[in-house]
Amino acid sequence: MKIGIVGCGGRMGRMLVNAVLDAEGCALAGGTERPGGDAVGRDIGELLGRGALGVQVVDDARTLFDVADAVIDFTAPAATVQHAAFAAETGTVLIVGTTGLSKEDEAALRAAGDRIPVVYAPNFSVGVNLLMALTERAAAILGDDYDIEIVEMHHRHKVDAPSGTALGLGRAAAAGRQVALDHVWCKARDGHTGARPKGEIGFATLRGGDVVGDHTVMYATEGERVELTHKASSRAVFAKGAVRAALWAKGRPAGLYSMRDVLGL
Ligand code: NAD
Repeated sequence: MKIGIVGCGGRMGRMLVNAVLDAEGCALAGGTERPGGDAVGRDIGELLGRGALGVQVVDDARTLFDVADAVIDFTAPAATVQHAAFAAETGTVLIVGTTGLSKEDEAALRAAGDRIPVVYAPNFSVGVNLLMALTERAAAILGDDYDIEIVEMHHRHKVDAPSGTALGLGRAAAAGRQVALDHVWCKARDGHTGARPKGEIGFATLRGGDVVGDHTVMYATEGERVELTHKASSRAVFAKGAVRAALWAKGRPAGLYSMRDVLGL
């Protein structure tokens, strides 16, 4: 399977190129960077310190979609929306890990999903997706006498908050309670907030250092507290999961899938 990586000069982009090169049954179709980016024109292998591959980073994503069976996109929301249109036009499988997408951006992914298989996940690690399934189940069993708080910490470069994974965990908890997350969420607290409303799902965001991604879901009631925690120590887990998703999506009917679909959770 020929897999292309858009944003291949980014922190995740580099991990993704390595994951494709190391995966059985996969070949690198090419890589892109945004026009004017430092990596454009450089050999992708040299960019990664692996030795020349004879494949140069290009800034014209459409040409990559023309030759790839699947494209993996961990870039930025505006770029992802454009890539979704290219994928739909060219019939290319699209795997999206970009976070911070607005409702309109997500609608563009849904529209692409009418024509091609799209796998969109705020977190491609297998462990986090297990945590999502456990979070939903625990919320359903414990009920709304247990206050749900989601705490996340990421490295100092992260630009969106709460993390896409934290919001995904919030959605899983809300699904367990059969409510819509945006009716019950509290994404940040400051000043005189008043007492905590029953049924609220709260978020707390920490940023610092090189933390790859820590998430804890707490269920707190009078007399006890349950905590479910996942800690990622290498970004390679996200890249491996995204390649697994690309292999899974090949030949599937058009649709917008999640990592939980890929793992059968
Ligand atoms: P980064 O800034 O290091 O990399 C993003 C790259 O995309 C940059 O190199 C940038 O130049 C490139 N880019 C931007 N616009 C482009 C365009 N139009 N065409 C081609 N390339 C373009 O960021 P990062 O830490 O690698 O994270 C990227 C995204 O992935 C973020 O949204 C992050 O939250 C998300 N992420 C998701 C997961 C997951 O499992 N879903 C895991 C880690 C990070």
